[in-house]
Amino acid sequence: MPTDAPETPARPAEDAATPRDGAVRETRASGIRSTKPRQVRPKTEGWQQQKGPDGRPLLQFASPKRGKPPAHLADLAAEEWKARAEELGVPAFRLKQVARHWFTRWTSDPAEMTDLPAAGRDELVAGLLPPLLTEVRRLETDRGDTIKFLWKLHDGALVESVLMRYPGRITLCVSSQAGCGMNCPFCATGQAGLTRNMSAAEILAQVVEANRVIASGALHGKRADDGTPERVSNIVFMGMGEPLANYARLMRAVRTMAAPAPEGLGMSARNITVSTVGLVPAIRKLADEHVPVTFALSLHAPDDGLRDELIPVNSRWKVDEALDAAREYFEKTGRRVSIEYALIKDMNDHGWRADLLAEKLNERGRGWVHVNPIPLNPTPGSIWTASEVDVQQEFVRRLTEAGIPTTIRDTRGKEIDGACGQLVVTEEDERAAAATR
Ligand code: SF4
Repeated sequence: MPTDAPETPARPAEDAATPRDGAVRETRASGIRSTKPRQVRPKTEGWQQQKGPDGRPLLQFASPKRGKPPAHLADLAAEEWKARAEELGVPAFRLKQVARHWFTRWTSDPAEMTDLPAAGRDELVAGLLPPLLTEVRRLETDRGDTIKFLWKLHDGALVESVLMRYPGRITLCVSSQAGCGMNCPFCATGQAGLTRNMSAAEILAQVVEANRVIASGALHGKRADDGTPERVSNIVFMGMGEPLANYARLMRAVRTMAAPAPEGLGMSARNITVSTVGLVPAIRKLADEHVPVTFALSLHAPDDGLRDELIPVNSRWKVDEALDAAREYFEKTGRRVSIEYALIKDMNDHGWRADLLAEKLNERGRGWVHVNPIPLNPTPGSIWTASEVDVQQEFVRRLTEAGIPTTIRDTRGKEIDGACGQLVVTEEDERAAAATR
């Protein structure tokens, strides 16, 4: 197994209670000094992290230049529709009609758009709603309550989305990039680097396709109270990619999700969660957008000593900077921030780290944040495996006792590699995609 992470990284000031000799002294909660021997350092398993000229894990912020996806109506803001209608030589209201079909009936089939004149209908629809996603495969688990989709984009790039039914809501985990340039050592998606940014319409098409699939009877084919087919109610940007590294297209997609029909999907912005590993300038920009999305920071470690290795972008923006930006998000939007924290056995699940996290959150105020510890999927023999249940409980107890609302998050889709950090295109997927026209 190749290993890239240094065994003895520089010891940060706030990590002073944690000797790098492997012993972790517990002093914070109980006042009793005890010694815990295990401190597992992050290392890749079975793959080599790409390094930059400075010897650090390579970070790719810019999308490699590839052919652009076909221009789609959903790439445009509604204010731009008039100009597009003029280009196409049709009245502006025709675009509204087409948009209504796509955003509310989830169809791009001209034969179903009988309110459009038959003459020129096929050409108009082809120009506005070119196909963006081809379904390569679909995997179901959780007794049909979770479905993972593998999609092929126009240039052959592969991305995934995961649809999950929960009591009272249907959540879609969407991808925002093909691959990812953030190079996190635990993450299947990041291994191959960033293939390219997805367009706004490609991001939105994942939701439209999911709604179409639900309407056709998937997820048990239930109906809403008013008899209409159920649809996706919640979006989480936790699929492939770092959404804030694809900022303009992310925002176009988010605004369209939240826009009422026919200009968008009519979803509640509050039900859209944008998650990041901590691109601080983009977090600040997001806070100024006046779109009240839920913001989630994937922190996974409260100390730079560990987070530098666990989340390579921490070399750019440190834990305190990311937390300051998260706090600013709360101040500007009034929306409580979520801190995501994957609990990894003997790596980041120590009691003193729960205390340090609580300390750092509390020193920025009360009532602004919520912590979601996520037990990693059990992987026998791997350094990336789930914390013991009693360790999870102790982690939660310490945070809760310090006044931090904390809820262990459900990790759906374990059986189909659809949980966070697991979305990856395999050789088998590539073969299936090659067989898809
Ligand atoms: S964990 Fe997220 S940010 Fe890190 S490489 Fe994977 S997809 Fe990218």
